[in-house]
Amino acid sequence: MTPRCYRFKLGAFNCMAVSDGKHVYHEPVEILFPEAPMDLLTRALKPHGYTPRHWPEWISDYTCLLVDTGTHRVLMDMGAGSLLPEAGKLVENLQRSGIDPGEIDLVVISHAHPDHLGGALFPNARFIIQHREWAFWNGAPELPRLSSELREVLIRSVNASLPQLTHGIELIDGDTQLLPGIKTVAAPGHTPGHMVVSITSQGRELLYTGDAILHPIHMEHPEWSAIVDVIPEEAEVTRRGLLARAAASDALLFCFHFPFPGLGRVRAKGDTWQWEPIPLPPSLGIR
Ligand SMILES: [Zn+2]
Repeated sequence: MTPRCYRFKLGAFNCMAVSDGKHVYHEPVEILFPEAPMDLLTRALKPHGYTPRHWPEWISDYTCLLVDTGTHRVLMDMGAGSLLPEAGKLVENLQRSGIDPGEIDLVVISHAHPDHLGGALFPNARFIIQHREWAFWNGAPELPRLSSELREVLIRSVNASLPQLTHGIELIDGDTQLLPGIKTVAAPGHTPGHMVVSITSQGRELLYTGDAILHPIHMEHPEWSAIVDVIPEEAEVTRRGLLARAAASDALLFCFHFPFPGLGRVRAKGDTWQWEPIPLPPSLGIR
């Protein structure tokens, strides 16, 4: 059974990883590591039990983060809404955990890809997005790495979701302190206005990384950008900066597309890094 939520503490904050469901991506190598040299890719995939030619699908969890600071309820990303059949379960899972969507007063949107935009189903929330991200998608977005087919699907999905956010939307620039202990950090590359969120309480830090890192192998090879990384050079710089910072400070990382609950740490390994998911109770480990 797919787990629905995972509660944990960060200092004085009560946090919960909330599943939005999952999605199966076909031809994962073409999506995640399209430019990786074959010999290095073969070596990187081996510990995961795959080869470049025998990895038919990548089953990606979609996991959002809820932080209760004691005075505010802050949600990081909104999942896929009605876009995909096996996702869009965020609100249902919040309600099952006793959280009414009306209690959430702040929603931080890491970026405007449709698997993070969901539906604006939080009537009392302010919605935070980077000015650069808003301008990119509301202009004529250039997506030269995507096939024309994928480009069309993506733009159509964004155009269906983004206008729903006109109520309560707040555009910010770069690093911004939103609340005590909740700060955005510009992390461009995956999209031009992509951001991560630094959450700190009582000296402990968690970095909600959005889509800066899509797969644990991107920690071992931060130079490999996904086909959906709009500006791959910036995406690599962002990944390296984020991973170096997290390894040096022992910050927790929260990764939206990783196996549920997407929580762990990174350790330096040679010139790059290695993912170490947090140990989970057996009830959550069974999929
Ligand atoms: Zn995503």
